[in-house]
Amino acid sequence: MASERWDAIIVGSGLGGLTTAACLGSAGKQVLVVERHDVAGGNSQVFRRHHGDDWYEFDVGVHYIGECGDSGLFPNIFHALGIGDRLTFRELDRDGFDTLVFPDLTIRVPAGWDEYAGRVVEQFPTERAGIERCVDVLRAVAKESRLMFGEERPTFDQWAFRPLSELFAECELSERVQAVLDHWSGLYAGPPARTAVAMHATIIGHYMTGAFYPEGGGQVLAARLVQVIEACAGEVRTLSPVERIIVADGQAVGVRLESGDELAAPVIVSNADYRRTIDHLVGHEHVAPGTAAWADEAAMTLGLLCVYVVVDRVLDGPNTNYFVFTDYRTDELYAELDAGRLPEGAAPFAYVALASRKDPGNPELCPPGHTNFQIMTLAPRGHAYWGVDAGPADGGTYRRDGTYRSRKQEITDQLIAAAEQVLGPFRDDIVHVETATTLTHERYTHSTGGTSYGYEHSPEQVGQHRPHYRTEIDGLWVVGANTIGGHGIAGAMSGGVFCASDILGRQLIVEMYLGEQLVDPASIPPDPPEFDPLEHCRGERLRAKRRDRVASLRRRRAEAGRNP
Ligand SMILES: Cc1cc2nc3c(=O)[nH]c(=O)nc-3n(C[C@H](O)[C@H](O)[C@H](O)COP(=O)(O)OP(=O)(O)OC[C@H]3O[C@@H](n4cnc5c(N)ncnc54)[C@H](O)[C@@H]3O)c2cc1C
Repeated sequence: MASERWDAIIVGSGLGGLTTAACLGSAGKQVLVVERHDVAGGNSQVFRRHHGDDWYEFDVGVHYIGECGDSGLFPNIFHALGIGDRLTFRELDRDGFDTLVFPDLTIRVPAGWDEYAGRVVEQFPTERAGIERCVDVLRAVAKESRLMFGEERPTFDQWAFRPLSELFAECELSERVQAVLDHWSGLYAGPPARTAVAMHATIIGHYMTGAFYPEGGGQVLAARLVQVIEACAGEVRTLSPVERIIVADGQAVGVRLESGDELAAPVIVSNADYRRTIDHLVGHEHVAPGTAAWADEAAMTLGLLCVYVVVDRVLDGPNTNYFVFTDYRTDELYAELDAGRLPEGAAPFAYVALASRKDPGNPELCPPGHTNFQIMTLAPRGHAYWGVDAGPADGGTYRRDGTYRSRKQEITDQLIAAAEQVLGPFRDDIVHVETATTLTHERYTHSTGGTSYGYEHSPEQVGQHRPHYRTEIDGLWVVGANTIGGHGIAGAMSGGVFCASDILGRQLIVEMYLGEQLVDPASIPPDPPEFDPLEHCRGERLRAKRRDRVASLRRRRAEAGRNP
C-alpha cells in the first residue's frame, strides 16, 4: 500500500539522478528524489570539518571540468534549466591547467588540440610524426563521437573501440611519450591495454576547450539542480535509503524504503550503482540471466584515494593541477593495482588539486592565510589490501582495523612527500589532514569497489556497450556513471539529459543546444541572503529540522568573521 504517489521517483541524488529529475520536472512531472545520505549530490558533494571556531570545506568529486565556455555543454544545460545565471565557472590556467612532473621532465598541458600536440612535440622532437598522428586520431574520434545525425565517422569507426595501446603501437611511440599522452588515464582509471580509444579521446576533447571549476565549490552544481526540482513541484528527500524497487507483472511500480514506507510511481530511475541496482534493489528474478551476469561480471574501474589537507600559510603558484609520476610505466602499474597491491609499495602517481588557487574567494575553504588542497591517487583493487573481508556497503567494518589504518597512513605519507616535490615543504604547517579511501567512498555512495567512475571503459564496456537508460523492465530506467553516458560530471549530467529525453520522447539535448529555456528562471525562488549550497542539498524536510542548529552555526561563523 503506497503512502505517496509521484510521476517519477529517482533513486539516488548523484548529478545523473538530479539532472534527470530536473529535466523531468521541467516537463511538468512531479518528481521525488530519494537519497540515502544526508546530503544530495553523490560524488559531487563537499564536506566540512570544524576545529574550534575554524572550519574547512573539501570537495569530494569535482576538481575540474571542461566545456564551460560559451555554447559549452554545461552552460547549455544550466541555461535551459533556468539556472545559467546562478553559476559561474572559473578557468584554470589556459596555458597549463595540468602540470605533469616526471623524474626528468615537466610539461604543462594547455587547452587546444594544436597547442597540446605542439607542447608534447616540443619535448620529444624526434617523435613528431608519431605524436601528431596519434593526436590527430584522438581529435578526430572525439569530434566524430559527437555527430548525432548519421554523418560519416571514418576515424571513429576505425579506432573508437580498439584499445589505446594499439594506437600507441601503431604510432610507434616510445614509453616516455606514451606515459605523457596517457596522463588522462587518471581521470578514468584504466590502463592503455584495456581502455577504448573513444574514452581517451573524449576525455581529452572535454578539456581541450579549457578546464574550469565552479565558483563556490562542487556542491553548487547539486544545489542549483535541487532548486530547479523544488521549483517544479518536486522534492529531494535525504536520509531515505531505498531497500527495493518494486516490480509487479514485469513493471516497475514504486520503491520500498528501508523505513518500510512504500512510494508509488510509473517511472523509477535508479542512479544507484548498477550492480547493486540489479542484484539488490531489483533482484535477479526480474531480469534476464544475461543482464544479471553482465552486471556482476563486468569489470569496475579502480577506486581513488584522496588526502585532504589545510596548511596555515599561503602556497602561492599557478592555477594548475599537478600530476607527479614516479616513472614512465603505464600498463605495468595498473597490473599491480589490479592484483590488489601498490606497485613496488608506492602510490602510482600523485594528483594535486588546489581548491584555494581555483576558487580563492570562497570563504568556506579555509581562513585567510591558509591553503586548502587535495592529493589523490588510484588505490589497489579489492578489500583484501585494506585487511578487511566485507566492504561497508555489505555491513563490513574497517575504520579501526590495524591493517587499514597503517596502509592508509603509509599512502598518506607517500602522497604528502610527492606533493612536497611541487609545492615545497609543507608538512610542518599542516593544520588539518585526513584521508578517504575506496572504503570511504563505498560507505558514502554504496558503489561497487568504491569507484566513482563505474564500469571500466574497455572496448567491450564503453559507450553503447554499457547499460542503456531504458531497461528490460517497463518503467525502470538507469542513469549515472555506470551507464551509456559514462562517468565524470559531464558523463553523469549529459546522461541525465539523455535519460530524461528517452522517458519523455524528446531530444532535450538538441533543445538545449538551440538555446531553449525549459524552466523559466523567474519561477525559481531567489537565493536567501545566507544561501548555503551544502545546507540546501539536505532537501526540504531535513532543512526544516536543522533550521535552529544552522542558525546558531551561522552566528558562530559571523563571530569568526568568515561569513560569506
Ligand atoms: C575523488 C574524486 C574526484 C573526482 N574528480 C572529478 C573531476 O574533477 N571531474 C569530473 O568530471 N569528475 C570527477 N569525479 C567523478 C564524478 O564525481 C562522478 O563520476 C559523478 O559525480 C558520478 O555521478 P553519478 O550520477 O553516477 O552518481 P553518484 O555520485 O555515484 O551518486 C549516486 C547516489 O546514489 C545514492 N544511492 C545509492 N544507493 C542508494 C539507495 N539504495 N537509496 C537511495 N540512494 C542511494 C548514493 O548515496 C549517491 O548519492 C571524481 C570522483 C571522485 C570520487
